[in-house]
Amino acid sequence: MKQFHIFLLAIFVGLPATGCDWVTGGRQPAAPEPANLLIVVVDTLRRDHLGHYGYRRPTSPFWDELAKRSVVFDNAYSAAPWTKPSTGSLLTGLYPNKHGAIRKQHRLRNEVTTLAEHLKANGFFTLYVNGGNDHIGDVQNFRQGFDVFRILEKRSGNLADKVVAQFIQLLEQKRKNRRFFGYVHLMDVHSPYFRTQFTDQFLDPENAKISAIRSPRRINPPLLKGLREEGRFGEPEKKTIIDYYDASIRYVDEQLKLLFSELKRLGLADNTYYVLAADHGEELWDHGGWYHGHTLYDELIHIPLTIGGPGLQGSRINDLVSNVDVFPTVLELLGVSKGNLKLDGKAIFAEMSWNPAARELYSSAMLQGPEQAALITPARKVIWVPDIAARVGQKLDAPLAGKSLTRMFDRVTDPEERFDLAPRFPEQTTVAVEKLRHYYQNTVTTEAFSESDVDPEVMRRLQALGYAQ
Ligand SMILES: [Zn+2]
Repeated sequence: MKQFHIFLLAIFVGLPATGCDWVTGGRQPAAPEPANLLIVVVDTLRRDHLGHYGYRRPTSPFWDELAKRSVVFDNAYSAAPWTKPSTGSLLTGLYPNKHGAIRKQHRLRNEVTTLAEHLKANGFFTLYVNGGNDHIGDVQNFRQGFDVFRILEKRSGNLADKVVAQFIQLLEQKRKNRRFFGYVHLMDVHSPYFRTQFTDQFLDPENAKISAIRSPRRINPPLLKGLREEGRFGEPEKKTIIDYYDASIRYVDEQLKLLFSELKRLGLADNTYYVLAADHGEELWDHGGWYHGHTLYDELIHIPLTIGGPGLQGSRINDLVSNVDVFPTVLELLGVSKGNLKLDGKAIFAEMSWNPAARELYSSAMLQGPEQAALITPARKVIWVPDIAARVGQKLDAPLAGKSLTRMFDRVTDPEERFDLAPRFPEQTTVAVEKLRHYYQNTVTTEAFSESDVDPEVMRRLQALGYAQ
């Protein structure tokens, strides 16, 4: 832990002057007792729709306050643009090519050591409560290492309040004074976007007069499809949908506030490290589409990430990090040895040996559209589509067979990724593509489940999520 203290101080002192008003320098003494860990993943939450990342609407008052006394990452990326591969990376410290939970029918490999397994082996009570995403359930082998593993069903409305209540109840009942690792997965920002007590605050009254979406109880893909077919889908309708999306974030923020106040009531607030993140974002027509899992643009993989807890103080970190880094980073914070584990991630605060300026991250594993992978560096992002015709889960597009596509974006001057630089920098592009080819070549043998393995009720819920065909 000593090395960690020194390095963290170095980070604070040497931080570039980008929004680091909160940096107070130094740290409080670390927790005197062995600490706990809470990871909260808000499914489908865009980084740029949170106040502490500059959003103009009041979506996240609690998280913004929490951020002031936490470490906030300005350049955090997800290893994939949809839930299963991304959460697999968070919980294994490995990229999708190594943990194997890549496509809809894939399982997380049994050979991997999950964070839950590792902490359980180190004496932790491990608890998982998921508010309705069945892509990271039993069938997909995500139970590995959890003492208690619960998935609630989202379909009829928002559930974060019930997830929080169940999580706290199970923690109280089952922990028995052991250190704990809690994983909470909140689905309320994922479509369908349900009306919440905050929705009216976010609906623009002028827009509401012209929008064809008349304040329904929920907004889901069939509603959009219907409007499109009727030729009634344009800017006012997009705006209404974004209003609903933002109101959902506000609802989740309220439940996060409740979760943290419950931890305080249990006397655990001062001795628990917390990680708040998204598994991926949501495209809201940034590049012409809606949903997630179909591109590797920043609206889907540039994620929010906040880490706080005993001894950590408010600061911003600009270095490029990934959700594969969470596993080794929390081990370092908790003072738990990594043992023989070989992880793709870096312990962000602790490893003196890694050079942030030389960092290269990978993101891959599509839900829909052609398979593609991205190489992300502090300056650039290269997205490579090896075969445009090889569409995930669809028939081959014969006229395009064998054609690849490569794009390069300047992350600093073109954060919206509008200008493809690949034609101007052919050599750099080729080097990046070779690395991505190598990444694909190192893909493990994947394990799949068959539909007959899946409980019909779970299958129905997967279909309701809009993923299954
Ligand atoms: Zn997700």
